Amino acid sequence: MARRKLIAGNWKMNNTNGEAVSLVKEILENAKNVVDKDIVVAPTFTCLSEVNSVIKNTNVKLAAQNMYHEPSGAFTGQISSDMLKDVGCEYVILGHSECRSIFGETDSLINKKIKRALEASIKPIFCIGETLDEREKGITNSIVENQTKAGFDGISLDDAKNVIIAYEPVWAIGTGKTATPADADNVHKVIRDTLKSIYNDTVAENMIILYGGSMNENNASELLNMPNIDGGLIGGAALKADKFLAIINSKIV
Ligand code: PEP
Repeated sequence: MARRKLIAGNWKMNNTNGEAVSLVKEILENAKNVVDKDIVVAPTFTCLSEVNSVIKNTNVKLAAQNMYHEPSGAFTGQISSDMLKDVGCEYVILGHSECRSIFGETDSLINKKIKRALEASIKPIFCIGETLDEREKGITNSIVENQTKAGFDGISLDDAKNVIIAYEPVWAIGTGKTATPADADNVHKVIRDTLKSIYNDTVAENMIILYGGSMNENNASELLNMPNIDGGLIGGAALKADKFLAIINSKIV
């Protein structure tokens, strides 16, 4: 089965409601006829509802940038899976390196969040990736293997099929540096091999594994045409409709 490409825009802490709506309208207007790729946008929590009212029942799907694993209760400042479903989220980004490094999210917390999202039928976009220090030490492969194993700990084979992985080398996020297509593809292969060891060949072969880290309109095509790269999680270049659309329109050969 050929894996479908997925292009996801992570807007991070950018855009007021008005800005988010005009950005998504421009994306939708120009991408509504795209049939060969899935398209996802991840606005901030405060813009989810407004953005959903623009894209509801279209080919542009909604993601949140995080959520908490408890269903409800005294967790000031947190957002639950039910709240995300209520505003139309089909996806949620979990384990982003900024959440790991700035907000101290651990592998075990991220694993709980993945489980909760799956219980709520929200597809997790589960982010993993090595730091510059880890890459320079030559331990990239073991880092992503361990993060993959920790993220999928206790997740059934059937549930695993609904997870999307985003390999995002931390040193490439927001820096303008990208992994070479060959390097990224190799790490994606390591992730697929890890999935094979946890589950089986079918789960590994069908898993959508995105690349993230300074993907833009100039380098997207080469990255997206690598055999193990199934799409992109895009930060900076997702904030400008023309750049995001250029990535969406990358020709896959
Ligand atoms: C990200 O934050 O997920 C990301 C990939 O950012 P950027 O494209 O800006 O490197």
